Amino acid sequence: MNYESFLIKYSEIGLKGKNRYKFEDALVSRIRESLKEFEGTFNVYKEQERIYVDSKKDFSDVYDKVIDKLKKVFGVFTICPINKTEFTSDYKELSKYVIDFVRNVYGENPTFTFKVKTRRVNKSFDMHSDDISAELGHDILETFKNTKVDVHSPDVRIFVEIRNHINIYSEKIPGPGGLPVGTSGKAMLLLSGGIDSPVAGFMIAKRGVVINAIYFHAPPYTSDRAKQKVIDLAKIVSNYSGHIKLHIINFTDIQLAIYDKCPHDELTIIMRRYMMRIAENIAAKEDCLALITGESIGQVASQTVESLVNTNEVCNLPVFRPLIGFDKEEIVEVAKKIGTFETSILPYEDCCTIFVAKHPVTKPKLTHIYRSEERLKDVIDDLLIKAIDTQEEIIC
Ligand code: ATP
Ligand code: MG
Repeated sequence: MNYESFLIKYSEIGLKGKNRYKFEDALVSRIRESLKEFEGTFNVYKEQERIYVDSKKDFSDVYDKVIDKLKKVFGVFTICPINKTEFTSDYKELSKYVIDFVRNVYGENPTFTFKVKTRRVNKSFDMHSDDISAELGHDILETFKNTKVDVHSPDVRIFVEIRNHINIYSEKIPGPGGLPVGTSGKAMLLLSGGIDSPVAGFMIAKRGVVINAIYFHAPPYTSDRAKQKVIDLAKIVSNYSGHIKLHIINFTDIQLAIYDKCPHDELTIIMRRYMMRIAENIAAKEDCLALITGESIGQVASQTVESLVNTNEVCNLPVFRPLIGFDKEEIVEVAKKIGTFETSILPYEDCCTIFVAKHPVTKPKLTHIYRSEERLKDVIDDLLIKAIDTQEEIIC
């Protein structure tokens, strides 16, 4: 079967009242971007609360690839491969379209149970929807002798939409849901090479947020392979979120200073506080309205509620922690689904694990942390300026 078009349905964005057109336009743009590599093959547009992806030429050889791309566009609720024909007010002609559709998709001798569901938007077709469905059901039974009607749980539902043209389809492929990226502002993701932070970025992008990312690199303690792993993760997330600007910060001197001057059981917390400070500085320059981390309560010593309070204390921007109540297994499940897991588990070193204490504090006290950070006062401002000034930016 060669389908000619896709009908894209969206759910939540239908609820946005007067802003609705902005969400629809953003979704059209995101779909166009996702199909960029098939330049000249598709025409994407909206019409009567529907988005269509019409083909201008045969695309059967890349059909699966196109579906795969559409399945990654946030805001898409379902993808329906359709056959689209010109409007007719003549029932016989409509019936012929539907019979041809069944034959094309299911062959000469289909054996399914089915139900026809008609939606008549264009009232110049002079029959009621239920009557059209009943008549079409009858014609299908007559033509294909091994089919049966089952209105409760049919094998196949045949949808017929009578609009300014006629849409016929029987397959609904689930999209990712969410909101089109670009409709909810921008945020800065603290992206490490681990399992959690790419999932956190995915989840916030799913709510329509444009993502920038920041990675703290500690050469020579962390290798080029570790850095490349983070770039690769950003690229995988960008399949959903659109391009991600990744800021790479050389964190080595700051880490060494902390290691040198602060109590070792507080290393991770103090390091995390400086990561947040730097992330916030760059977020402001990039018009990011929030930070995102992959933290989850109690996962490690630096993520107890007490530790999170200490980390959060340096932030003025809101910090989104979409995984805060997730178990590791639940995070892994999403990581596998979105394709980041295999890359995340590559065994390259992370700056947090290299400078880690044997017995980190699990209930850090802010007064102690302030005292420890005091010890950095002669060097830290210059180190922060240097780290920020020497950042590397990569578009992923
Ligand atoms: P992940 O799997 O995301 O690395 P984790 O379980 O290893 O998380 P931590 O190392 O405590 O947890 O880090 C908590 C969060 O801090 C991460 O989810 C990430 O948002 C941020 N983070 C940690 N290390 C880095 C880094 N090197 N660069 C950027 N962000 C980092
Ligand atoms: Mg980590």
